[in-house]
Amino acid sequence: MVAPMDITFLGTGSAQPSATRNHQAIALRVDGDIWLFDCGEATQHQFQKSKLKMGKVTRIFITHMHGDHCFGLGPLLCSMTDNLNPANATTDTAKTPIDIYGPTPIRSWLRNTLKSTYSNLGQPYRVHELLLPDDPIDTNQELHQDELPGENITLIDGSFTLPMFESAKKGYTVQAAPIVHSIPSLGFVIREPDWPGKVNQLIPLIKKNAIALKELGLANPMSLLGKIQRTNEPYTLPDGQLLTPPPLRPGREVVILGDTKDASAIIPITRDPTLLVHESTNALTRLDTNVKEGSAVPTLEEIETRTKDHGHSTPQMAAAFAKKINCKKLILTHFSARYRGDEEEESLQVMEDIRKLAIDVFDQRSEDIYCARDLWSYEIKMDH
Ligand SMILES: [Zn+2]
Ligand SMILES: [Zn+2]
Repeated sequence: MVAPMDITFLGTGSAQPSATRNHQAIALRVDGDIWLFDCGEATQHQFQKSKLKMGKVTRIFITHMHGDHCFGLGPLLCSMTDNLNPANATTDTAKTPIDIYGPTPIRSWLRNTLKSTYSNLGQPYRVHELLLPDDPIDTNQELHQDELPGENITLIDGSFTLPMFESAKKGYTVQAAPIVHSIPSLGFVIREPDWPGKVNQLIPLIKKNAIALKELGLANPMSLLGKIQRTNEPYTLPDGQLLTPPPLRPGREVVILGDTKDASAIIPITRDPTLLVHESTNALTRLDTNVKEGSAVPTLEEIETRTKDHGHSTPQMAAAFAKKINCKKLILTHFSARYRGDEEEESLQVMEDIRKLAIDVFDQRSEDIYCARDLWSYEIKMDH
């Protein structure tokens, strides 16, 4: 049985939050848990507005140390581990540590934040730092009372392989690579295990042999379907035909990037991803072109230069990257506060302008490109 996977955008704004877009936070539902990517200010409020339970968060990945991506971390940890809060589903995971991953100095910053505010958590946590070659190493000294030592993960052949503990046993992996922004920033590649293939085409063969199989003592001949999926071994039917296990279905791969103007370094660890989430901070839209006569209209080159100067991307840059890594679906996020995320006609038109700019670069694949809105959820379907 394939586990459902979906993604909810709790915040989709950049730099300044606005009335219609909160700071960055992305909740990826994996195997029944929530893995949170970035945790901007007021992420816990966004959880309360969503259908997601913050107590289900088991892992938090921080892409970079800009405040719009991490200022909400301390408060969220306090709320989500508060065992007295009935909204938390922590009963069965109360003693399982929450794993947090991110660049230096996230471990000492979080420790100081929690210590300085006399914050106690209802659950242990540990912070794993993804270290670039010249980064200082935190040696896990003078831990917060709820803190466990975290791992220091070094770059090997240009990427990080993250410790996944219980999820690793189920075959889930997460890798990361440093991408180009105005400060060190990370992109993450989340991969689920391959799933058993579909067995529908084997049903007629079993039906043909049903009587003979029952005579052999198999009360429910259809149980053979589950058996060959589990064992992945062929089974010879009474009439001599072979039930061959179908090939495994490749697990989904999701790429979630931090702020970036160039994410090329992540290419070696991607494999035709199911979904890419890429920032798209600035664009040339009707807000720039529908101006009073005589007012200057910026060129695309000017917008792109300005965007890159701040370490960010335009929709065209995001789409070009999506094409390069051959992803199936692209979701744009991290929009400037100029681009409102509400249902007003002008807001929708501006967001459609942005989506179209990406579509033009991404082979006119209109049905594969989305602009995220706060609290919007998207189901990540299997490719086959
Ligand atoms: Zn940002
Ligand atoms: Zn940033």
